Parts: sequence; structure tokens; C-alpha cells
Amino acid sequence: MTLLELTDVTASYGSVQVLEGVSLSVPDQGAVGILGANGAGKTTTLRAISGTVRAGGGILFDGKDIRGMRPDRVAALGIAHVPEGRGTLSDLTVRENLRVGAYLRKDRKGIEADIEYCLDLFPNLKERIKSHGSALSGGEQQMLAVARAVMAKPRLMLLDEASLGLAPSTAKNVYQAIGRLRKESGIAMLVVEQNANLAFTLVDTATVLETGRSVLTGTSAELKGMDEIRRAYLGG
Ligand code: ATP
Repeated sequence: MTLLELTDVTASYGSVQVLEGVSLSVPDQGAVGILGANGAGKTTTLRAISGTVRAGGGILFDGKDIRGMRPDRVAALGIAHVPEGRGTLSDLTVRENLRVGAYLRKDRKGIEADIEYCLDLFPNLKERIKSHGSALSGGEQQMLAVARAVMAKPRLMLLDEASLGLAPSTAKNVYQAIGRLRKESGIAMLVVEQNANLAFTLVDTATVLETGRSVLTGTSAELKGMDEIRRAYLGG
């Protein structure tokens, strides 16, 4: 079953159109990557889905038209956006950040159980549970951003550049944990990632964007086998 379907999605910042026709679909419990050069429109595609940028075209989530919905309503339907730059709250502790992620939930026991699950998934956060967001390393902030999204119990997670600015070993750790999360939770994922080698450890298929248009979709294996993809995104 298809969980998310984008058909010819367009979007602009002011008078500058940056998405000119993005189409892709994410199966229920599937993981799909978005590849593309700087400025191709990857981040904007995620923003169009989460309602933080105005979009044209078709955006169906679980069969429902969500295009033009307010971000809080999109979130309430089960889409959690882990933004580029992480967006963790620096004045709150790790535990408080996790609780903020669960703000729409009322099941207190479930919330506490999910906090424990997140701390098991990211043991670094367990050690930092009382630290403020501002005291965390980049890797810890990224882990917290993902964990906070988990706390919303989403059906779909939008992950934007989770490896950005992290040491390679830290980025690998983060992706391993996200892979485990995917297996255990069945949360579907739409993953923007500059480091395609990392993305391919997580996603089943990926769509390539060029100047605001989706130009190619394939399985990870198919894409890795293509010379132009290797040259552009896999370092040779
Ligand atoms: P990157 O990896 O650099 O973030 P991207 O593929 O995610 O690239 P977007 O961030 O979606 O690309 O940006 C697409 C285009 O829109 C770029 O030309 C960018 O300069 C422009 N853009 C992004 N955000 C804004 C904004 N808030 N206002 C105006 N233009 C923007």
C-alpha cells in the first residue's frame, strides 16, 4: 500500500519557483531516499509535505489530500519532520525535548515507555538525559531530533540531512540506529541525504531530483549500478 504519493508537486519562494514537478511515492513501512545536488529542491520537497511551504500539485497521505494543510494538522495525521539543522530546543533538557515530541499524545504510560525506547536506541542520550539541548554535541543533537520525532508516534518520518556536519563514525551510528528504528517500528521514511552511501544503507528506493524535478527513480541496487549516479553522488 502507498502511504505517501506526490504528483507533480510545485513550490516557490516568493516569485522564484524551486519545485517544478516532483513525483514520488513512499510505501507503507517503506524507506525512500531523495538524492540531488545542492539546491535541487530536496529540503523544499520535505517542507511541501509537512506544510511549511505552500505547494501545488498532489500530495496524498494515506489516501487523504494534505496539500495546503497547516503543519500542526499534518503532524497530527502522523507525519514527523526532522528538519535540516535539527531544531532541538536548546533551553530544554533531553527529557523535556522528548516530552515536547509527544505533545499531541495523552497515553502517559506509552510516552514513558517510548522515552525508554529512545534512550535504548540512542544510549548517548541516556547519559545526557538531564543536559540542555545547547550542551549536546552535533551528533547528540541529531539523535535527539530523531528521538523527538519518534515520540510523536508517526507513521511517516521526513529526515533531512541527518549526517550533516557529523564525523563519519557518528553519522554511521546515527544511521544504524535509524535502520534499527525502521525495522522495529515500521515507521515509513522519506530521507534526504547528501551522503548517498549512507542513504543506501537505509532506503529501498530513491528518487533523483534535478533543478526541482524528479528525473529518475530506482532501487538502491539499480542506482548504485549506474555510472552517472556513482559519479555524482557516490564519490566516483
Ligand atoms: P541543499 O542540500 O543545499 O539544502 P536542496 O536540494 O535541499 O539543497 P532546497 O533547500 O530545497 O535544496 O533549495 C532549493 C532552492 O530554493 C535553492 O535554490 C535555494 O537557494 C532556494 N531556497 C531555499 N530556501 C529558500 C528560502 N527560504 N527563500 C528563498 N529561496 C530559498
